[in-house]
Formats: sequence, structure tokens, C-alpha cells
Amino acid sequence: MVRVNSHYQMLRAGYLFPEIQRRIKAFTAKHPEADLIRLGIGDVTEPLPAACRDAMATAVEAMGTRAGFHGYGPEQGYHWLRQAIAQHDYRQRGCDVEADEIFISDGSKCDTSNILDILGDDNRIAVTDPVYPVYVDSNVMAGHTGPADDQGRYGGLQYLPLTADNDFCAPLPATPADLIYLCFPNNPTGTVATRAELQRWVDYARSHEALILFDAAYEAFIRDPELPHSIFEVEGARDCAVEFRSFSKNAGFTGTRCAFTVVPKALTGRTSNGDAVSLWQLWSRRQSTRFNGVGYVVQRGAEAVYSSAGQAQVTRLVTFYMENAAIIRQQLRSLGLAVYGGQHAPYVWVRTPESRSSWQFFDQLLQEAHVVGTPGAGFGAAGEGYLRLSAFNGRAQVEAAMARIARCNLR
Ligand SMILES: *Cc1c(COP(=O)(O)O)cnc(C)c1O
Repeated sequence: MVRVNSHYQMLRAGYLFPEIQRRIKAFTAKHPEADLIRLGIGDVTEPLPAACRDAMATAVEAMGTRAGFHGYGPEQGYHWLRQAIAQHDYRQRGCDVEADEIFISDGSKCDTSNILDILGDDNRIAVTDPVYPVYVDSNVMAGHTGPADDQGRYGGLQYLPLTADNDFCAPLPATPADLIYLCFPNNPTGTVATRAELQRWVDYARSHEALILFDAAYEAFIRDPELPHSIFEVEGARDCAVEFRSFSKNAGFTGTRCAFTVVPKALTGRTSNGDAVSLWQLWSRRQSTRFNGVGYVVQRGAEAVYSSAGQAQVTRLVTFYMENAAIIRQQLRSLGLAVYGGQHAPYVWVRTPESRSSWQFFDQLLQEAHVVGTPGAGFGAAGEGYLRLSAFNGRAQVEAAMARIARCNLR
């Protein structure tokens, strides 16, 4: 009989979002009239920018003509899109990134997990706690961890706490790490890293010959012009980092699917004999073997993000969500809650009142306010005692949710 990848058996059975669904279902069965406001999921709510829709409509028409038809495209993505990205996202910010170093994909979720294909199985891995679950689960699936303990911490991974106690600056690994996952602006805490903070990581990675996997899916939400949008804004990062970016959150492409990964040409890793090998070459080989590129129509839609109309529309979208975040922050603060994040990211990370657990506070908001958040403990043991609220919703929903929470008993 066929054998399965038994590492999957070690995954903690898709525990966070199914459990949230289960509690919502139980609640709505009892209170079918309740009008729930979901500030839980990390999905955008507002329509696609007109510039992207127009570009895709034009591309669809072109596909209906012999002259404008496009079959298989380059696996790495069309040059015009990679050129636009290199220019707007990197060179304009003073980063030395070439169009050739950019690989277009159908999502950062895919890329952050697929990257393991080109990395060895014996790397010492560090992740923050709390963490975007994909980084951890993809390593579990690849057999890079031991089983999880009661708190959900997998054996063999080094967890670096990201909490109010350390001002959401994770400590450097206590034992050497070869592979480090960082996400800033951070999901779930909504906090951001300064240039000095990223420099500290790059310096560590260079002195330990480690690789940083830097997830910048939320860079568009940064408001402070002093904060870096890319790890490549930091000295030395080209020697030690890969960066993941996505059109999902800035341009609302969660259902359209387009992202990209930057792999510097000079970046290397070692074979088991100790020879240095180009990661760019490995990733290029991996993508051209296992991936056939993102649809032409979608890449035209992504390119339109960089048109002047597209830039203005994306700025409006991001501003809209960040106004929501500001409303959530202000309202919760005025209720005496400790809130973090939400200034350069669409997530607000709320300390639960009166030492309630993450799930107790989740249940209270569900029962009393009919508001759905995400329990911080679901993102890692150090997320216990926090709840994540997302700014991805309509204005009326956010305002109503805050008014309802204000009526809860938070003592
Ligand atoms: C939403 C999100 C992404 C984007 O994933 P896509 O697959 O591109 O939609 C990447 N990283 C984090 C941490 C995210 O929250």
C-alpha cells in the first residue's frame, strides 16, 4: 500500500481557525439572530482597484485575439512586471535589486513554504513566537521538527518571543540558528521593526552564515517614512536574506493571486561538502521545474498597481484600512485596554483584560459583543493573553464592533 508523508501526522490538527469556526457555529446555533462582525480573518474586504480591473479586462480581451494571445509565460514572471517591481519597490527606495532577482509567484504563502525545497533538512531553525503558522507547519511537513508539546511548541525549533515585555523586539537566537523567519510589519502582532532592529538581524545572520527569510507582505501599511519597507534597505542584507512580498494585502489580490520573491544573485548556501551554491540558481531551477508561472491576465493586473492611477488607488485602500486600525486602537485604549501594533500594520494586538486567557476573551467578545477576533494563543504560546483584531473590514462594521465592545464588562 502507498505510504504517506507521516510528518503530516505531527501537525496539530489545523487547530486555530477550525476551533474558531466551531465556537462561532455553536454560538449562532443558539443565537441565530445575532449579527456577527468578523474582525478575525486576515482577508481584505474592499474591491480591487479600478486600475487593476481595467488592466485585467484589457488583457482578457487581448487573450481573445491571435496577436494578443499568451500561452505559457516565463516561469520567473514577465519581464515588464519584474522591471516595474524593481523600479518602484526597490530602486526608488535606494535598494539595489535587479529585475532578474525577482520571481513572480501565485502567493507568498506558497513561496514561504516552497523555499524549503531548496534548503537542507538539517538547518537549525528559529521562528518568532507568536508566528504566522505557515512557517512552522511547512517545516513540520518537511520533517524538520519533533512533535509538539502541550503549548503547541514543536521540538527542534527555536522560538523567539515577541511580546510586550521585550517591546516586540525578538531576542537573537540563544543557540546558533541557520534559518530565521522574520515578518515585519508583523502578523499577528501588528508591530514593526526599525532599521536598527533589522540591522541587528542582518549582522547576526552574516556572522553566523545564516539565512533570513523576510516576509514583507504588509510593507505598504508602514506610515513612518523612517521605517524600512524592505530588508534590502539594510546594509549587508543582500548577503543573507530572501524577501517575500505579495499583492494580496496592498492591492486586495487575496483572491486574484500574485506575489513575488527576491533572491539576490550573490546569495549562497552550502552543500553537505561545504561548497557554496547560488540560492538564485536553485530557486530558478525549482520554479522552472515545479511551477509554470502566474497567469498573463493576473500579471497585467499586478503591473497596473505601479501605474500612477494604481498607486493612488492602492494608497487610498491602505489608508482606509489604516483609519480602521486607528479607530480600533483609539477605542480600545479609551476602554483602558493595552493595545499594540495597528500603526504600521492592519492588525491590532490587544492585551486581554484582567488576565483572561486568549480564548476566554475571544468567547467574551463573541458572546457579549458578537465580535469575532483571533485568540493570540493560536499563533504560539507567547501569544497567550492577547487577541488579534484585524482592520480589514468596512468602516461601519469597525465602528459598530467598537461600540459593542465598549458595552462589554471588561473588569
Ligand atoms: C497574508 C499574508 C501573506 C500573503 O500571502 P499570499 O499567499 O500572497 O496571499 C504572507 N505572509 C503573511 C504573514 C500574511 O499574513
